[in-house]
Amino acid sequence: MSEILNVPEIFGIDVFNEVCMKQRLRPEIFNAWKKCIENNTQLELDVANEIAEAMKNWAIEKGATHYTHWFQPMTGITAEKHDSFISPTDDGRVIMEFSGKSLVRGEPDASSFPSGGLRATFEARGYTAWDPTSFAFLKDNSLYIPTCFFSFTGAALDKKTPLLRSMDEVSREAVRILRLFGDMETKRVSACVGAEQEYFLLPKDMYAKREDLRLTGRTLFGALPPKGQELDDHYFGTIRTRVSNFMQDLDEQLWRLGILSKTKHNETAPCQHEIAPIYTNANSACDANQIIMMVMKKCAAKHNLVCLLHEKPFAGVNGSGKHNNWSLSTDTGVNLFSPGKTPRQNALFLVFLAAFIKGVDEYQDFLRCTVASAGNDNRLGSHEAPPAIISIFLGDELSAVVDSIINGTNYTDPEKSVMRIGVDVLPSIPKDTTDRNRTSPLAFTGNKFEFRMLGSSQSIAGPNIVLNTIMAEELGKFADELEQASDFESALQKLVCRTFAEHQRIIFGGNGYSEEWTEEAARRGLSNYPSTAKCLPTYISQKNIDLVTKRGIYTEDEFRARYEIHLDAYRKIVCIDAKTCIDMAIHQILPAALHYSRDLCKGLSAKKQAGISAKAEFELANELSVNADALYDYCNELQVALDNIPQDKETAVDYCHDVIVSCMEKLRNKADRLEQLTDNSYWPYPTYSDLLFY
Ligand code: ADP
Ligand code: MG
Repeated sequence: MSEILNVPEIFGIDVFNEVCMKQRLRPEIFNAWKKCIENNTQLELDVANEIAEAMKNWAIEKGATHYTHWFQPMTGITAEKHDSFISPTDDGRVIMEFSGKSLVRGEPDASSFPSGGLRATFEARGYTAWDPTSFAFLKDNSLYIPTCFFSFTGAALDKKTPLLRSMDEVSREAVRILRLFGDMETKRVSACVGAEQEYFLLPKDMYAKREDLRLTGRTLFGALPPKGQELDDHYFGTIRTRVSNFMQDLDEQLWRLGILSKTKHNETAPCQHEIAPIYTNANSACDANQIIMMVMKKCAAKHNLVCLLHEKPFAGVNGSGKHNNWSLSTDTGVNLFSPGKTPRQNALFLVFLAAFIKGVDEYQDFLRCTVASAGNDNRLGSHEAPPAIISIFLGDELSAVVDSIINGTNYTDPEKSVMRIGVDVLPSIPKDTTDRNRTSPLAFTGNKFEFRMLGSSQSIAGPNIVLNTIMAEELGKFADELEQASDFESALQKLVCRTFAEHQRIIFGGNGYSEEWTEEAARRGLSNYPSTAKCLPTYISQKNIDLVTKRGIYTEDEFRARYEIHLDAYRKIVCIDAKTCIDMAIHQILPAALHYSRDLCKGLSAKKQAGISAKAEFELANELSVNADALYDYCNELQVALDNIPQDKETAVDYCHDVIVSCMEKLRNKADRLEQLTDNSYWPYPTYSDLLFY
């Protein structure tokens, strides 16, 4: 790369952002838009018309011909339908047109997006509406307008709408608490998120040769190579040229789109990498993560690579996740999870900490459900990703503070009196403790919580909706209690102390991968759902329904619809995996093994005739035949299992997990053994060595 990239100059150049709006809109219009955002109200049509016109002109100047309402249906990825700006005139020419109506409202033909029964077929229409808190951007000659997606009756059909609702809720309740602490200034509290994204890159030509990668995004077969990740020589290692060219290109594209791509490095597994943008509000972070995933795939193709976002592309090699860093921040710039320097700031911090601990303990199942998926089942709890049991890591210093508050002892000196919240200063808590427990699913990292259970392909909306909502719920209850108190200081002390004591069981600083923790967690009464099938039924517990409806995040129908979609998605993915397994086994693996063993037998009889020893041929051919027979039997068994999936959706999920997934494992064992026995030149597709050590 010879050209020098002027990053500040290109940053956000493809975004119709606030600066751009200020330049291109009349002040009245710009202010009207700002007001809408501040007060959470709808845009007037005349305002929308002017914004649309300015947006269109900006986009056309930059080469756009189309626009699209970009939305986040319940599939977890994004969808778009492109319309051109052209509009015919009477004399047979066209002009470029874009109205306020087209900006604020769209009607994609959306009947084939999952709706979980929210959209009966007679009213299949879905609508999209611009989310004016999210900037429009330009990609591939189209103007992308971030939108919410809802049904004719107004039911949310997407992941953005509930996220926005949860952000409003947590803001409202957090502000109530701030008022109690004498903060009369803060108008809004934002949930802030920085999502670290892991992914694999593979050469395109090799990817193309594997049906499993093409159809399911992961390898369903593959014997382990002689070398794996045991040398740890990939982690933070030098980045390959092709990969670093890709990363440079990716950064440039993301910067143009106003995404603060900051860190990039190699990950533990060979071919695995990570990208992390600087944190921003949860809504923008969620949009940004979707854009990152989208741009990564496109950009990889340009460099003759394929970007895999699957949670577990290779058995025996670490899978990919996402780390969701989450905090709350006031519009005056105060991070509410930052242990402060004054007693008052400390007290505020402890209230937010207590609410967080209580919320996570009470809704651990709900949080667990947000990361339940067929793909993530392959890594959670397997000593490469956090365990399936939710717990919170606080670090030594903060744990000691919590203990001292519970036990009524002083943190620094057990002889001294009780720590008085709001009076005493907290001991200093190192921001970047070296011992950041990597086995913890949810760790306090100085001024934020890092939730590490998300799968790499999942939308980050799910866990953030839950984190915001449980926080809103607990802060709301705290505010109810504190607002009634005659003596604020002592009520505060009691509340924080009681909350820590009652929810202490969720705090854990030890090794989350250990056998002892599983036993200890059971003794503490923490839930442990090792699979999606076991976990999903808890999603629609009465407790969760009460929470989300009370907080206005989902109506009960909207919530149950999501449950249906999760059940469906799990079953469908397992079935596609299973069918692909059979297809490859019958059409590729078995023929290769049979072909090779036939050739071995030919050699064997020739040698026998000549009176030469043929031990190797004999034993190899024999073992190949035995395993080939078993493979064939398992294919039939799996096919029968697929033909007998129960009708009932809930039963089907259990069945898929218990019967189909375990049959696939048996089949894979045989196939991988055959791969080890077969001459490379007979093998129909690239092996793990080919893929991972190209
Ligand atoms: P790690 O050591 O876990 O890889 P990184 O520093 O690479 O951590 O990434 C941490 C992520 O957390 C980044 O996206 C960063 O912007 C984000 N982050 C930092 N501070 C906050 C905060 N207060 N709230 C939310 N996210 C934050
Ligand atoms: Mg991290």
